[in-house]
Amino acid sequence: MATLSFYGAAGTVTGSCSMLQVGDTRFLVDCGMFQGNKTIHELNAKDFPFDAASAEFLILTHAHIDHSGLMPKLVKHGFTGPIYCTPPTADLLSFMLLDSAKIQKSNAERQNRKRARKGEDPVDPIYTEEDARKALALLRGQGYDSWFEPHPGVSVRYWNAGHMLGSASAELKFADGDNGNTMRMLFSGDLGPEEKAFHPEPTAETGFDYIVCESTYGDRDRDDYTLEKRREMLRKELVRGLSAGGNVVIPAFAVERSQELLHDIGVLLAEGALPETTVFLDSPLAKAVTEVFIKYAGSLDDVELNERQLFRDPRFRLVQDVEESKAINLITGGAIIISASGMADAGRIQHHIKNNIWRSNATILFVGYQAPGTLGYYITSGEPMVRIHGKEYLVKAEIRQLGNYSAHADQGELLDWVMERAPVAGRIFLNHGDDDAREELARLLAERGLDPEKIVLPQMDESFELIAGDARSKGRLPERVPQTELLSDWNNDYAAFIAALTLRLTDAKDDDQRRRIIAQLRKAL
Ligand SMILES: [Zn+2]
Repeated sequence: MATLSFYGAAGTVTGSCSMLQVGDTRFLVDCGMFQGNKTIHELNAKDFPFDAASAEFLILTHAHIDHSGLMPKLVKHGFTGPIYCTPPTADLLSFMLLDSAKIQKSNAERQNRKRARKGEDPVDPIYTEEDARKALALLRGQGYDSWFEPHPGVSVRYWNAGHMLGSASAELKFADGDNGNTMRMLFSGDLGPEEKAFHPEPTAETGFDYIVCESTYGDRDRDDYTLEKRREMLRKELVRGLSAGGNVVIPAFAVERSQELLHDIGVLLAEGALPETTVFLDSPLAKAVTEVFIKYAGSLDDVELNERQLFRDPRFRLVQDVEESKAINLITGGAIIISASGMADAGRIQHHIKNNIWRSNATILFVGYQAPGTLGYYITSGEPMVRIHGKEYLVKAEIRQLGNYSAHADQGELLDWVMERAPVAGRIFLNHGDDDAREELARLLAERGLDPEKIVLPQMDESFELIAGDARSKGRLPERVPQTELLSDWNNDYAAFIAALTLRLTDAKDDDQRRRIIAQLRKAL
């Protein structure tokens, strides 16, 4: 018998963290940060709903912060076991976790300035650089396709998940109680699409007792595309944006997405398919991570530039320091500015958006998923005005989106991946997706012949007893934050309201009308 608990990414797409108890041995699969609105972020500061010190080891699927970002907090709270991951994941984390620690520090400082003004006690950062370094010291690299034994009686094998550099699905084998049988389990991790630059499509073994599968795009199918077609679409967007005379600003994840863009833009520049331009990659993390990609360049698929050219076009500026970043603000046209974060909810990209979004000749080009509640979500939803760093900005720039840079399998690819893993004797747990996505994926899996009784949509903090192909819910822990606030909380409502009010006041025909609007609102209060 084993117990499987979902401590994140159940009904949401962030905070991946599952715990397995096999006999007396407890271990974790991923320990990610929650991302999204302020309510979701609060989960990161709250206590773990389990004893961190009781986990003996951790199996990490990939480096993305929503899968790895709370590992330093785990260490801070007493975890001392080894953390297994692929070697590229370890290399990426050596930059990503330290970067995350810096973000935690500056978030705490900002919060504490606010708290001091209200006479409240300061808060500690969720973790420090020292905690991150301690977590990094626990990393143990394990390659794909070979078994290792993190604990006597528990075997693990990584499979390529095709999602990002070093990403893996984790296959587990352990004794099914005392009955002499072996239980076989598979955690998909995040799965990549069939057509993805740098990595082959995801694969794994067949025949399992239990599968835990992500469902991010369970309710979405993308148009089929090739990498060439995708690059051509990018070219059109860049040519259109640059010929309008303004800058093209691209919010992009620092890891992988930024390198895919640099690769594609590098190819287009080498072909002479773009007007003369300077390409800024303004993210210290992206710059560091690009070096990791160069280290593994020999193992990357679909690279159309030789290793000396890759990411090194003379028109590229990989920006590290703040002064250089600020200097980009003086450029009002003709540049491509790639910066993190990809959902524009933090980081230097917010400055570039502030500087360009009100210019009618500028373009903001989104190339990734925009989670509800993030600035990127509001901009791509067509809001006429947005609030950044406490100020309102009119959206005059051209807002464009390219969907085909996604690192996630779409609906059809998820279905194929699950069906290729058949037969599944026990249960398929669908996690890492919002409820609409999971329900749709469950429906389609049933349509393809899977027994609907075998498909489980676990809730946050819900545990299951796994016995002989069955899974019995042991119930949920009390809610850590109200579930209803996860997609949109009062902070989101407030930002939307202030932006709408500012717009209304701007559009009012005279001051008299403005005063009437304010008087009506005061009355409502
Ligand atoms: Zn991921």
